[in-house]
Amino acid sequence: MFIINVDLEKCTGCGECVNICPVQVYELGPDGKTNPVNADACEGCMSCVEVCPEQCIEVKEM
Ligand code: SF4
Ligand code: SF4
Repeated sequence: MFIINVDLEKCTGCGECVNICPVQVYELGPDGKTNPVNADACEGCMSCVEVCPEQCIEVKEM
């Protein structure tokens, strides 16, 4: 299982993490920022961490 932390102060809502995640973990919320609504599905591939231009995603294995 993986824990996802997003620094919403830094998130610009660019949607790169939404697009790259192979298991649709993220959605853009009404505030225009990303939201890991499906975090339980995370496979720890780290694509979202690597793609985020603001380096605001942290994924850790529990
Ligand atoms: S680590 Fe991979 S599976 Fe997990 S949220 Fe990021 S892109 Fe999706
Ligand atoms: S890639 Fe980073 S800046 Fe872009 S929406 Fe996702 S968390 Fe926010």
